[in-house]
Amino acid sequence: MKIAVLTSGGDAPGMNACVRAVVRSTINNGFEAYGVFDGYKGLYEGKIKKLERNDVGQILNRGGTILGSSRLESFKEEAIRQVAVNNLKALGIDNLVCIGGDGTYRGAMALNKMGINCIAIPGTIDNDIASTEFTIGFFTALDTAIDAIDKLRDTSFSHQRCTVVEVMGRNCGDLSIFSGIATGAEIVITKDTGYNEEDILKQVKKAESMGKRHLIVVVAEHITDVARLAQKIQDNSGYEARATVLGYIQRGGTPSSFDRILASKMGVHAVDLLKEGKGGYAVFTKSLDVGHIKLDEALSINIKPSDLYQYLHKLN
Ligand code: ADP
Repeated sequence: MKIAVLTSGGDAPGMNACVRAVVRSTINNGFEAYGVFDGYKGLYEGKIKKLERNDVGQILNRGGTILGSSRLESFKEEAIRQVAVNNLKALGIDNLVCIGGDGTYRGAMALNKMGINCIAIPGTIDNDIASTEFTIGFFTALDTAIDAIDKLRDTSFSHQRCTVVEVMGRNCGDLSIFSGIATGAEIVITKDTGYNEEDILKQVKKAESMGKRHLIVVVAEHITDVARLAQKIQDNSGYEARATVLGYIQRGGTPSSFDRILASKMGVHAVDLLKEGKGGYAVFTKSLDVGHIKLDEALSINIKPSDLYQYLHKLN
């Protein structure tokens, strides 16, 4: 059995940990592992290389993707995909793990219909894939945003400012609302909250009347021009206001503990599915739900060993 892996769409921290998990798990199952370079574009161009255990050494903790990523609009055309399928078939590969966002999922689904067993793994900082609660890269990007907002808060406090911060997320507000909660932002504006300038200015005034010395406003990208919003706040309140766009720093960096574990588990899971002959699936995870339990029941439960023990031998 031969299993290839590719990364596609926007890169995300933890993609490498996932590539490693796919490759190691494939080899530990006695199969052959292949890397496709530069996503679907590389698949079309035949950039496919056999990978050995050591080829994925020292990458677990590296941001970005060693396989490279790309966008190829024409991959939506069947004739273009047929070239990609032929490239895989020529090497005897009929299993493919595709790590990326929803565009990548669509590509995987289309390839699956053309006879390649495909498994899609959610890899994007935006957390904008509905079938999974969290995507690989989201928590690392969140940590980066939190770190930056914490720093902005320090200076915001010193200068009695209102700081408006634009956070990434494409069309998903998760990075904004999660970072807003984690940094104690006073106002969070996303597609879900809607953009109502009058209401925002009212909230600013309220914070001012409560005696707040400074203010953090987190805004999801594509909602509004944050520099203009900051100016508006400055013109309509007693706060001096500044805008900061966090931008691409959120896409890079060492993957967080959560993303490393999630990526490792998902990579192994994908190979397990292919081993069973299953294609056309998307891997998911859940959940961070909070619940409650009677205290006496809580104290009567024994701690179970983590399910991670079963992954260890598959990843080395
Ligand atoms: P992401 O995977 O992060 O959402 P994109 O939306 O750019 O990123 O998708 C990545 C790639 O997936 C595209 O460049 C294209 O090659 C492929 N793709 C997207 N949509 C489709 C589709 N409907 N059919 C086939 N391939 C697609």
